[in-house]
Amino acid sequence: MTRPEPALSVVVPMFNEESVLPLFARRLRAVLDALDEPYEVLAVDDGSTDGTAPGLAGLRARWPQLRVLRLRRNSGHQAALVAGLLRARGRYVVSIDADLQDPPETIVELLRRARADDLDVVYAIRADRSRDTRFKRWTAAGYYRLVRRLVGKQVPAQAGDFRLLSRAAVEALRELPERSPVLRLVVPWLGFPSGEVAYQREERAAGRTKYPLSRMAGLAAESVTSFSAAPLRVATWLGLAGVVICGVLVVVTVVAWLAGVTVTGWPSLYVAILFLGALQLLCLGLLGEYVARIYTAVQARPAYFVANDTDADADAAVITDGRAELADSLR
Ligand code: UDP
Ligand code: MG
Repeated sequence: MTRPEPALSVVVPMFNEESVLPLFARRLRAVLDALDEPYEVLAVDDGSTDGTAPGLAGLRARWPQLRVLRLRRNSGHQAALVAGLLRARGRYVVSIDADLQDPPETIVELLRRARADDLDVVYAIRADRSRDTRFKRWTAAGYYRLVRRLVGKQVPAQAGDFRLLSRAAVEALRELPERSPVLRLVVPWLGFPSGEVAYQREERAAGRTKYPLSRMAGLAAESVTSFSAAPLRVATWLGLAGVVICGVLVVVTVVAWLAGVTVTGWPSLYVAILFLGALQLLCLGLLGEYVARIYTAVQARPAYFVANDTDADADAAVITDGRAELADSLR
């Protein structure tokens, strides 16, 4: 690298965010310019199809610290984040959403906290979600309860993807063989010294959410199966319960046969068949979830493709996909 590394990189995944882009850029720039330290803003354009790309190009003309990483196609929030994190050059790297739900002013707090206490990870905690919809709060609460049980108490509740990482933490992420880690679980799992800063979750400044229910469910399923084999054990327990219930049914059937009333036994038979059928399908489904994970892991396809990086140095240093990065880090 020819240029000195900036003190701070801010990674912003964006997917069709043309309507908030000007607002966001103005607020973020005010905060970062006031820091009076070298910084870069790494906007990851996650295959936007609206005016986000031209908007970013326009901003770049007047904002030399803005760097744009364009992914070839929409790869999802987590993949876009990883793409940005692994290419950021800063001593500290903050990831933030583009929709102003995460206030850029909190970045100053994150940085101050990391330096004061020499921390590698600082989570921005959503202390107040009163402006989120009730449904979003309710599903989020369920999600955090679940992942804290599965991964452990080191996962802070109400910490999304607004956080600060040190260079060391980013390098540790780079060494992971996983293509698309669920960052909010993997980061605490890395075990770096960490702290928290509270902030108030604001309303989306403009545009629509890119996280419909199906994507939220996807993230939850991914979180569970990437960190725990417990659901596979559910299959075992259900199977055991099934055996016990069937044992009881066998006894009942034999007693009924001895009493000579077997013809009337068809409802129990019917119930047993339905029950066992359901149980087997359920267990097959669970197995399938993990087989699917193995399948994607074996395919080892990169989670994203970089079409363009406005930073020429970085272009020369890293090739075009997630795999190249891994190879680089092992060299
Ligand atoms: N995002 C992205 N790719 C996607 C979906 C979302 O880069 O496929 C970005 C989006 O532009 C935003 C951030 O991820 O900056 C969070 O998305 P959003 O605000 O829609 O999620 P919510 O806050 O509603 O959970
Ligand atoms: Mg949002």
